[in-house]
Amino acid sequence: MKTKNWKVETIAVQGAYEPENGDPRVVPLVQSTTYAYQSAQGIADLFDLKAAGHMYSRISNPTVAAFEEKMTLLEGGVGALACASGQAAITCALMNICHSGQHIVATQALYGGTFNLLAQTLPKFGITCTFVDQHAPEAEIAAAIQDNTRCLFAESLSNPGTEVLDFAKFAAIAQAAAIPLVVDNTFPTPYLCQPLQHGASIVVHSSSKYIDGHATSLGGVIIDGGRFDWTRGKFPEITAPDPSYHGLSYSESFKENAYIVKARVQLARDIGAVMAPMNAWLSNLGLETLHLRMARHCTNATELATWLAADKRVSWVKYPGLPTDSGHDLAQRYLKGTSGVLTFGVQGGAAAGEHFMNSLKLAKLVVHVADTRTSVLHPASMTHRQLNESQQRQAGVSPELIRVSVGLEHIDDIIADFDQALTAAATLA
Ligand SMILES: *Cc1c(COP(=O)(O)O)cnc(C)c1O
Repeated sequence: MKTKNWKVETIAVQGAYEPENGDPRVVPLVQSTTYAYQSAQGIADLFDLKAAGHMYSRISNPTVAAFEEKMTLLEGGVGALACASGQAAITCALMNICHSGQHIVATQALYGGTFNLLAQTLPKFGITCTFVDQHAPEAEIAAAIQDNTRCLFAESLSNPGTEVLDFAKFAAIAQAAAIPLVVDNTFPTPYLCQPLQHGASIVVHSSSKYIDGHATSLGGVIIDGGRFDWTRGKFPEITAPDPSYHGLSYSESFKENAYIVKARVQLARDIGAVMAPMNAWLSNLGLETLHLRMARHCTNATELATWLAADKRVSWVKYPGLPTDSGHDLAQRYLKGTSGVLTFGVQGGAAAGEHFMNSLKLAKLVVHVADTRTSVLHPASMTHRQLNESQQRQAGVSPELIRVSVGLEHIDDIIADFDQALTAAATLA
């Protein structure tokens, strides 16, 4: 397929699926667990990874494959693995290169679920993590890397703190340590940022957010940039013979696809947290309007942030699209737009903020972000509830912080709703 020179918008609409004569115009939904073959040898060759083809939907499925290939093209990688959720994708991305006794360095400003994974769950499997302040000097962050550190993990635009990653700094630290930089690119999506172009080696997404974009389907995806050199000694699980495939070496057999092939044939095979075909179909449909939706999310969020920043009932606003924001310069450098999520505090603190959220009519209070409908959430009592207050502050969550996911409604209606809810909050307080 001639997608090599296509722009992101064209890939989003038409990438990865080319109907042949008389085929369905839309990517077909292949709702089948398995596939029929003519000979036993044909299936044996699939099991031995000697031939490519679908045999069982835990390993691969045509609808999921079309979604994976489109994500690969959008991020500029060499291959992808779609997972059951963003958390499944992050877990698989890390377990693919870290085992018991090894270590991860991650930024503090992370999604609450990722923080719990790194701080609580992976340590139970012997994988430990040191959290660093992403704004610390390069040498200070580099000092957290140990002999057994196997990757550096960060979010390109953090949830919910909207901190913009300094890619040059993090890529340099990872490169000096000969470990990959793994970046969660959920908030910008590949339309606003392509981490592989800024030195990341692996990209992960929660596709449950802007990629699906309509809050219909949980999903996650790992994209392999294909440029990290695994053969320098730290990653024998990729270079040395795998006893579960008759002693095959991923780096020898699959070259630049070694990492993503291993993730599929070992971890998807053994753990099975893969994306369902229906969710891949819906996520692929979502991708067809990604560029249009993201552009509007950005302009609506910028207008709402500007309006909130000028309002006396609001104590502070954080949105990297505002010229006064601490992340504005980094956003200018790395993001084509600052996405649709902003945070703010209401005068009167957490109690006034609660009155405000309860008074909204158009915007709904939901545990979600990044879909067509404007929504709000209170991280301290919801997504980051399992963290103590100091951990919450390190993740960029203050007690009064309200996270807004600005949707695609007309901006006048969004502002009118916020206006009446701020008035109601001031009256109740
Ligand atoms: C939502 C989210 C996740 C987790 O994704 P799920 O699909 O909910 O499992 C991970 N990272 C970021 C940045 C997120 O916003």
